[in-house]
Amino acid sequence: MNYQQYFPRDVVNGPGVRCTLFVSGCEHRCPGCYNARTWPLASGVPFTETMIEQVITDLNDPAIPRRGLTLTGGDPLHPANVAAVEALVCRVRAECPGRDIWAWTGYVLEALTPAQWRLVDRLDTVVDGPFIQAQASPGLSWRGSANQRVINIRMLDNAE
Ligand code: SF4
Repeated sequence: MNYQQYFPRDVVNGPGVRCTLFVSGCEHRCPGCYNARTWPLASGVPFTETMIEQVITDLNDPAIPRRGLTLTGGDPLHPANVAAVEALVCRVRAECPGRDIWAWTGYVLEALTPAQWRLVDRLDTVVDGPFIQAQASPGLSWRGSANQRVINIRMLDNAE
């Protein structure tokens, strides 16, 4: 997997102070996308083991407590990204107790593959659906257009 950017301290993409990773690769191609340079899977630079260690270190940094990790892009649920993102999420779960994990995806939950669901099931919150310009509004929390949903995955689990 490649990534475009990593912000070790971010207060925009999710609640609280967070570490935010912008992965490369998105097949949705939404008109008006805020980050179209992330669309090609080969854009950006490789997400290496060293980067995983950096994320873990930042999330555990007592000097600047982070509430959690944000995964966005690009699309962390792009089929080509799922395995690498899942490996990162498993490391964060094991080594960063108390941190939440949010992800933004252009897929809708009802259409996910089993592999995508296995990853989603390890997350706390997913903002799903493509960006639709005609439904865009600056007043929406954590989402760009009204069709997108902020879904608490833990609540879904409890409802099953
Ligand atoms: S899903 Fe997100 S990153 Fe992908 S094209 Fe749509 S707005 Fe851009």
